[in-house]
Amino acid sequence: SHSPSSVIIVGAGVSGISAAKVLAENGIHDLLILEASDRIGGRIRKETFGGVSVELGAGWIAGVGGKESNPVWELAAKSGLRTFFSDYSNARYNIYDRSGKIFPSGIATDSYQKAVDSAIQNLRNQEAESGGDHSSTSKVTEPPSTPIELAIDFILHDFEMAEVEPISTFTEFGEREYLVADERGYEYLLYKMAEDFLHTSEGRILDNRLKLNQVVRGIQQSRSGVRVVTEDGRFYEANYVVLSVSIGVLQSDFISFNPPLPRWKSEAITKCEVMVYTKIFLQFPYKFWPGCPEKEFFIYAHDRRGYYTFWQVRLKCFSILCLFCFSPGNHLLLFSWSNKETLKFKRFLFADYLFEQSSDLPLYDQHMESAYPGSNILVVTLTNGESKRVEAQPDTDTLREAMVVLRDMFGPDIPDAIDILVPRWWNNRFQRGSYSNYPIISNPQVFYNIKAPVGRIFFTGEHTSERFNGYVHGAYLAGIETSRAVLEEMRKERETEDGSQTQL
Ligand code: FAD
Repeated sequence: SHSPSSVIIVGAGVSGISAAKVLAENGIHDLLILEASDRIGGRIRKETFGGVSVELGAGWIAGVGGKESNPVWELAAKSGLRTFFSDYSNARYNIYDRSGKIFPSGIATDSYQKAVDSAIQNLRNQEAESGGDHSSTSKVTEPPSTPIELAIDFILHDFEMAEVEPISTFTEFGEREYLVADERGYEYLLYKMAEDFLHTSEGRILDNRLKLNQVVRGIQQSRSGVRVVTEDGRFYEANYVVLSVSIGVLQSDFISFNPPLPRWKSEAITKCEVMVYTKIFLQFPYKFWPGCPEKEFFIYAHDRRGYYTFWQVRLKCFSILCLFCFSPGNHLLLFSWSNKETLKFKRFLFADYLFEQSSDLPLYDQHMESAYPGSNILVVTLTNGESKRVEAQPDTDTLREAMVVLRDMFGPDIPDAIDILVPRWWNNRFQRGSYSNYPIISNPQVFYNIKAPVGRIFFTGEHTSERFNGYVHGAYLAGIETSRAVLEEMRKERETEDGSQTQL
């Protein structure tokens, strides 16, 4: 038992850390952060694989270059995090069939357009139905059936819904996405945040208000306070709890509540969908795939939807990166940089260049000095059913399946992968999935109920961000918003206390 804190934050992912930071900035220093795992970061997590850092969870800063500034992009800029512009739009021109042929761009474009049109039509039909409008004849759309249609449908729905439905991240923060490729990891942003309010030394958090390996299993509340019980039989008391565990953990009933959560709350929790998104990393003895920027992403068209569809060449982290581009007059332009300030400036140049010119100009990027030579890594992304299937099987089976797919695309002579890494977000009892997904046509009440506090328990996390759920910036902003709500509640409680004292 410990002396009661003002606030206990359960979970040290982005939302938990940003919530704690806001509380500390507002004078609440007797806070406690309880984290189940042995590290901070949650779904931001790097691991060493094939000699380099790879991101098992969040990999991109999505929503950059728009009218509003993405706060995570600002944090990244301030911390000097190394990022690279990702141009997904080329992926659709790198669709391989099972015999290794790339679909002609005309066919790819047509199939893409067809898929977008059909997705939009489906959405309209659903809207009409949910609005009770049966008068308008809903057009029947053909479901995708050929391998290329299935591949595009998968990309469209499981990756870039933005083309079908406006997504706040892209409409508000901008359409660009930047891949984080930094040896310190995406999680470096969390350490930078923690530094502002927790005692740290040499990149490590030494503050005893952060308690790792504390698995919360029970939350009891009375009118005067909250008691949090952990798996190892400890308990901690506080005035308020900020609960940042994922929607998957909430659905799994891993944490018991006393009194039980009201029905409106538990029903809302069950209604939110949980997406599973798995990045599988494969290391090879050498590179056999095309290396130019327009080939950074490629797609495999198979008759089973989502079967090892989306591939990505892992960018290396370079201490010096040079970009050569041949202008129409065949002039060689060379940008090179070595210190962070110029890097930032030049990177924007690079991004603009790719963004505007990528389709007309041959572009060639040359890696002058690789900080990690020989990291020949490919990443393939699986989702939902395929993720769960692969999580349940030995990694050697997954490696074998991936090799068959790669040999379909690149021929029988390519070497076997020498190592594989398969993250298991679904089977992780502190995660139970990758991120929330509110059905497009859903009742806004579901969302409000998921977010609403229950007595002294305040809910936060990416799933409580109305506009940006599913993203790092969603979690970050949710933490801030939840803490503001807690501070407001504290203020009200103080007022009523003061009020009753004056009455006496
Ligand atoms: P979490 O990071 O999950 O933090 C919750 C914390 O609570 C965890 O540390 C967990 O260990 C802890 N916890 C759980 N149960 C307990 C318990 N019982 N007791 C104590 N502690 C507990 N977003 C992007 O913006 N860009 C991307 O490219 C991107 N890609 C992604 C790829 C993958 C594979 C995944 C999984 C996610 C991705 N996301 C991406 C989403 C992004 O990572 C999340 O939205 C964000 O990190 C969630 O932060 P959070 O604080 O809400 O939750």
